[in-house]
Amino acid sequence: MRRSRILLVAAIAIVLAIAPATSGTFQPEPSVLLNLSVLNVGQGDAILITTSDDCTMLIDGGPQGAAGAILNALRENNVSTIDVLVATHPHADHIGGLPEVLDQIPVLRILDSGSVSTSKTYANYFDRIRTKGIPVAPGTMGSSFAFGPATVKILWPGDLLSTNPNDCSIVVELVYGEFSALLTGDAEADSEYEMMRLGLLSQVDALKVAHHGSASSTTAAFLSVVNPAVAIISVGAGNTYGHPSGEVLARLSGLNIEVYRTDLDGTVTVKTDGNDWRVQPEVLKPVGGITTNSAVAPVPEPVPIPTPAAPQTYYGSKNSNVFHYGWCRYVASIKAANLRVFTSRQDAVNKGYRPCAACKP
Ligand SMILES: [Zn+2]
Ligand SMILES: [Zn+2]
Repeated sequence: MRRSRILLVAAIAIVLAIAPATSGTFQPEPSVLLNLSVLNVGQGDAILITTSDDCTMLIDGGPQGAAGAILNALRENNVSTIDVLVATHPHADHIGGLPEVLDQIPVLRILDSGSVSTSKTYANYFDRIRTKGIPVAPGTMGSSFAFGPATVKILWPGDLLSTNPNDCSIVVELVYGEFSALLTGDAEADSEYEMMRLGLLSQVDALKVAHHGSASSTTAAFLSVVNPAVAIISVGAGNTYGHPSGEVLARLSGLNIEVYRTDLDGTVTVKTDGNDWRVQPEVLKPVGGITTNSAVAPVPEPVPIPTPAAPQTYYGSKNSNVFHYGWCRYVASIKAANLRVFTSRQDAVNKGYRPCAACKP
């Protein structure tokens, strides 16, 4: 018995030894490659994720007029079908280009935040989905699905949708082997705070900075948990919102996070085999001009840029005469029924509210 096993083992060893030379079937499998591209679509978001085993996910469709850039990127990546489309939230800078994309390429399924809008842009987007009969499911917090060799985890929105569409954004964590990325839509400080409170966040390699680098997101507390090596800001050159905010750039550079921006670097692609990863900006850095771990863009002084043109919402309670920034901890404790929303600082003051001593709006 023992002798026959030894003979069998010897026979297998001989087959193994000659097999590579005769059939080549014992060559190691090449790993699946994953590309995550934050596309240069101006002021908006569109993120294309593809794998070498033919999986495609598009997160958002940029503003109206972005479809050309998205369809080009799909062509360059030889994509003929989008497996999953994620519409993070119904703002025009995220779904504006989607009707044309949906007209041009089959989409198998859609994950939507569930937040709706009365805008014409939203109606266009929704009409296309209905006519084409594409299955739509809500992005449910805590759910996850396999995407080729990677896992897509849906971290947000929670069960109760916020009145602020940005805080309804579907937040995705993509994990492939050793690599991870957090893609945050336009989620603002309230969502960041809730995700932290619920213990949903962990350290990632790459962060798609929320809300185009607006100061209402990417809080210091959030960054201390997520602590990415690189941050990518999807933003249009010369936008009227003052994005990205100097405050956010300072928070990122203060933590030595390498920053890429679509307005300066063009489309920014992260390539990974699940082990190693690297960032490939469309516009190459000047040779020797910039060291690793520092921002590609010149980092402004860590002083908040006053942006009077930027729309800023303030919050208060029916039961007090104090108003706050959305991220202020006191806002979280205001019951939805008592929440008052002000379209500007002046609006709050005109209605007899005074600034909160904690957040100093
Ligand atoms: Zn938004
Ligand atoms: Zn946006």
